[in-house]
Amino acid sequence: EFWNTWMRTMGSTDRIFEILRSHRAVPEAPPQPPLAGHIALRDVRFAYPERVQVAALDGVSLSIRAGEKIALVGASGAGKSTIASLVLGHYKMDAGSLQFDGIDAQVLGVTQLRRQMAVVEQEPALFSGSIADNIAFAVPDRVVAREAMVAAARLAHAHDFIAAFPDGYDTLVGERGVQLSGGQKQRIAIARAILRAPKILILDEATSALDAASEQLVQRALDALMQGCTTIIIAHRFSTIVKADRIIVMDKGRICQQGTHAELLRAGGQYARLMQQQLSQFQQLHDSTATL
Ligand code: ADP
Repeated sequence: EFWNTWMRTMGSTDRIFEILRSHRAVPEAPPQPPLAGHIALRDVRFAYPERVQVAALDGVSLSIRAGEKIALVGASGAGKSTIASLVLGHYKMDAGSLQFDGIDAQVLGVTQLRRQMAVVEQEPALFSGSIADNIAFAVPDRVVAREAMVAAARLAHAHDFIAAFPDGYDTLVGERGVQLSGGQKQRIAIARAILRAPKILILDEATSALDAASEQLVQRALDALMQGCTTIIIAHRFSTIVKADRIIVMDKGRICQQGTHAELLRAGGQYARLMQQQLSQFQQLHDSTATL
């Protein structure tokens, strides 16, 4: 058993060193002024290197105003996460262009762009270490004054539960520390994102339900984070979708509809069908709990 673990560890360590030794593919760009947050994708085509025969994005054009909040909706595999990945510069698109404030992403450079972005993932990863380490992780060199950290945690509705631990912000999390609930982890991730003061926010909304009280706190924390940010939400919740400035409906790598909730409902089609599905799922859930 030990031998197997040892061999696996050796294999993984090799991969880690390979990555550490790798050189950046794109040279660092000269410094640019901070972004306003306008994003424009033009006729973007992209297939994942592992699946070149399937177009993950098949001619997507989308212009997002600075400060606008858009919700990406659509069936699983429609291309929502791929849009987020390309905006974050995880992959190079096969064709088309991506601009921020009218400047090509390649000119701005991925390091500078990411410095002005924050991501809140579905299931945020916390590292073993203290809560303070986990929040400070967002900023370069990880040096943050305690007051700034507490202010961010307060905005993220995380301060009260953190302060209630005997060791407060120095409480260890993870394997050897406290186990946090899903909602608490999310609020720590939101505090981390608030500290970055991003211009662009990518939000991958959790599909798994939190309990109602926790959900409400997470929502309030997100509202605080979204202030003044251009926000792209990979949306699953009805409440988020309805509140978005614009809803982008995706299907098989293309944008098939866009507009506000009311506009799209009136138009019928894909969005109205998606909403109908959500409603009937909710109805079924309601009926099953009513019979209990
Ligand atoms: P969504 O976020 O709407 O569920 P994705 O953007 O994840 O959709 O996926 C779009 C398409 O790209 C799908 O066909 C999916 O199978 C494929 N895809 C997503 N991620 C990868 C990957 N890492 N490697 C290969 N194919 C992928």
